[in-house]
Amino acid sequence: MISHHLFYPTMNPLNGALCVLMKQSIIDYHKDEKNDWVAELQCGHFQHVRDNPPFICRPWVTTEKGRSSMLGHLLNCKKCDSGEPKDIE
Ligand SMILES: [Zn+2]
Repeated sequence: MISHHLFYPTMNPLNGALCVLMKQSIIDYHKDEKNDWVAELQCGHFQHVRDNPPFICRPWVTTEKGRSSMLGHLLNCKKCDSGEPKDIE
């Protein structure tokens, strides 16, 4: 499997600091034990993609069509940023 990392410089609007965030594309999904959707990222990390309005609004995650339309979409992987071990190989 090809594994490459994509870096996107992002300006912090509060202090103007330049941050480089690790972005990884979604390759698959599964549900966890609480029935929440979890995205499987290209880097081997899992990340929750909850729809929990009004704080987290991801209406796309509740439908099969929405989820498949987001395959390949880039998510900021906090686990990569903090160097956590992979959830899957
Ligand atoms: Zn990652």
